[in-house]
Amino acid sequence: MALSVRQFPCLSDNYGFLIRDEASGLVACVDTPDAEAIERELAAAGWTLSMVLNTHWHPDHAGGNAVLKARTGAEVVGPQEVERIAAPDRVVAHGDVVTLGETRLDVLDTGGHTLGHVSYFDAADQIAFVGDTLFALGCGRLFEGTARQMWDSLQRIAALPGPTTVYCAHEYTASNARFALSVDSSPDLKARTEAIFEARARGEPTVPTTISLELATNPFLRAPLLRPDLSDPSEAFRAVRAAKDSFVG
Ligand code: ZN
Ligand code: FE
Repeated sequence: MALSVRQFPCLSDNYGFLIRDEASGLVACVDTPDAEAIERELAAAGWTLSMVLNTHWHPDHAGGNAVLKARTGAEVVGPQEVERIAAPDRVVAHGDVVTLGETRLDVLDTGGHTLGHVSYFDAADQIAFVGDTLFALGCGRLFEGTARQMWDSLQRIAALPGPTTVYCAHEYTASNARFALSVDSSPDLKARTEAIFEARARGEPTVPTTISLELATNPFLRAPLLRPDLSDPSEAFRAVRAAKDSFVG
């Protein structure tokens, strides 16, 4: 594989990601939940940071930008909205390409959780970093965007190749699983949730996931099937999202 990924826990339930283009040795981090944790991970790997890739402006994703930039000189790349925290050195939007050595990352508009949220997709390695848009068995809350915008964003992610490894920014899977079981009785979901509860009991991460796995079991991607009474897929999605927002379980 041309791109190595190191995933590590940050804050209470975020994941940090360091990525290294093996051909050039260039290293980036995806989001900056915790500058100290990222610096510890860089030191443990013996890697030098040259780029920060932000998915969206929330402090648990861009809050470490300034410290990391000051300490490493890394170029900060992200959507315009990140200026709410600190102006990026390079603003990217849907259709742009970011290169890290020989690795090419396509920028996808995945707005909805925040209006300007983006994801990064390495087609050659079939790896995607989706921030707070798609989670294992879940999706981000609609803090800024509409249900239609988020549904369109989720469809953009769902259209990536099935084997694509999907790195989500939070370990929310056990609580997502409890909600999923309340709205969907599919055998695939049942089997997956059992594996998830066992993994979490052992303290193991449930991230990354894959597009195929989410298409088969994620209740937000399956919303039109779960709500056949609603003919507009984005309305079905809205209904499932609203159910999750008020779910106590
Ligand atoms: Zn967020
Ligand atoms: Fe977040």
